Amino acid sequence: MTGVVIVGGGPAAHRLAALLARYGHPGGVSVVGAEPRPPYNRALLGSVLDGTLDADRLTLPALPAAVRQLTGVRVTAVDRARRAIRLDDGRELPYGVLVLATGARPRTPRVPGLQTQPGRLADGVRAVRTAADCRPLSEGPVVVVGGGIRGVETAWALSGTGQEVALVHPAGQLMERHLDMVAAALPAEWLAARGVALHLGRRAAEYTPGKVVLDDGQVLAAGTVLLCTGTVAESALARASGLEVRGGVVVDDLLRTGDPHIHAIGDCAEHAGTTGTTVLRAWEQAETLARNLTGRERPYAPERRVLRPRTPGRDMVVLPPAAPVRPDDTDATVSLLDRARGHHARLVLRGGRIHEGTVIGSPSAVAEVSRLYLRDEPVPADLLALLTGADGTYAGDGTPPDDTVVCHCNNVTRKALKDAWHRGAHDEAALARATRATTGCGGCTAAVRSLCTALEGATP
Ligand SMILES: Cc1cc2nc3c(=O)[nH]c(=O)nc-3n(C[C@H](O)[C@H](O)[C@H](O)COP(=O)(O)OP(=O)(O)OC[C@H]3O[C@@H](n4cnc5c(N)ncnc54)[C@H](O)[C@@H]3O)c2cc1C
Repeated sequence: MTGVVIVGGGPAAHRLAALLARYGHPGGVSVVGAEPRPPYNRALLGSVLDGTLDADRLTLPALPAAVRQLTGVRVTAVDRARRAIRLDDGRELPYGVLVLATGARPRTPRVPGLQTQPGRLADGVRAVRTAADCRPLSEGPVVVVGGGIRGVETAWALSGTGQEVALVHPAGQLMERHLDMVAAALPAEWLAARGVALHLGRRAAEYTPGKVVLDDGQVLAAGTVLLCTGTVAESALARASGLEVRGGVVVDDLLRTGDPHIHAIGDCAEHAGTTGTTVLRAWEQAETLARNLTGRERPYAPERRVLRPRTPGRDMVVLPPAAPVRPDDTDATVSLLDRARGHHARLVLRGGRIHEGTVIGSPSAVAEVSRLYLRDEPVPADLLALLTGADGTYAGDGTPPDDTVVCHCNNVTRKALKDAWHRGAHDEAALARATRATTGCGGCTAAVRSLCTALEGATP
């Protein structure tokens, strides 16, 4: 039996099924997903919630007909001895290889009133994890609970629609996992300027429909409470099957669990102590596993990645520490703060290359620093020019070079977009179909749109 059965219908499962078909996997491939609709890109849900993207646009490209797809069906148990899974409609499905791609579920903080029973949110409270969560918001103020990347993005998006928004976050600054105090002051200023009421250093202490009470007694009106309080790997099936679970389902470098017939990828998997929570990681792992299952075995090695919070009109990039993560005696830190212009940059350099950092404010500095970091290339001698975006890499009008990666999720360069445009893909949707740009986290949508406008303007 060589059939591959993939549990979960998210981006990880979708990419793996598509690649197995493309690489000519000889056995059958089945995808079993609990959600009622075909696989879609969850990373773009924020844009559905704020009304800038139609929910239909989330759907990922149709899988080849050879892939058997079951939607709206939950896998309830894995019988490892018989190599078969049980479905909630009573059916059983045998497997040769089982892949868990069950993703993650929202973490609900323990605040009295948020849940009516374990796992059931009270009226007016929601997390944004599935397409079903993106139904229109009710009237009245929105209280965003959580000030990490998702909370900042959500408050930014909703405040742009005219909603009255408050954001409550227990740390004294936003995005403390990714930004230092100095850097975090900038997104706080952006949000405040859009009218978002920031309650930093405060916890939600109680919820009753229509209001949130904070731990200092303040009462916030709340038509809707949006939980942006992180996720937990969905590992119940693995745990019940006796597989090792820590923060996620533990896998080795070949993305195998302790059972050689069962693999795990995406948000549910824990590799080298890290649980992935990005669509880029999910797709990277799908690519590695698809190769491994079609005879091109190679170990999984996470690539460098950048985090680009989605705050259109305000540029920000976080460059996580590259391996080896431990500080080195030769590390040198350079930083710059131009409060008046809203520019901030802080880079840790190791051996003349970027080891980690943050750049906020200057679009060209964000793009060029990201490029150097992702390619692990040496930084130029004139660091001030690099950090202010005036290093001459860009043309006089600020145009980035053609080899600049615009869509990091799908590794699409400016040149690839321009080529597609010249072949007839003349709008954002056509460019997305031709190159897959904008279909990952969506952070490059504005850049792709402005490239379209520039190319249109340059065409006689
Ligand atoms: C609002 C939001 C914004 C985001 N923004 C970004 C971003 O900007 N950049 C980025 O990289 N990432 C972002 N992410 C994260 C990204 O969406 C996830 O990393 C990605 O979806 C992980 O894919 P996955 O397939 O592993 O899991 P999921 O997308 O969680 O899919 C798992 C699927 O498995 C199904 N499932 C679970 N258990 C079972 C079972 N027993 N039987 C059958 N099916 C089951 C679930 O119903 C679900 O459909 C965002 C996520 C959210 C919610």
